[in-house]
Amino acid sequence: MKCEHYEFRTCPKCGKCYCERSSISREDNETLICPDCGTREALASIGVSKEEQEQILEIIHRNA
Ligand SMILES: [Zn+2]
Repeated sequence: MKCEHYEFRTCPKCGKCYCERSSISREDNETLICPDCGTREALASIGVSKEEQEQILEIIHRNA
């Protein structure tokens, strides 16, 4: 994986290595998590089920 702009971090929520810009967890407003988990938390907060969250992430990745 190429990483030009950000340093590698490991997401504490899903354990994935990522180098995109971090999201801040809504749970404590300080834990840095990967953009996917940021999206998951945002979707969960509006009542989207886990299954739907993964489907939405798949669509986001496909369009990226
Ligand atoms: Zn994550």
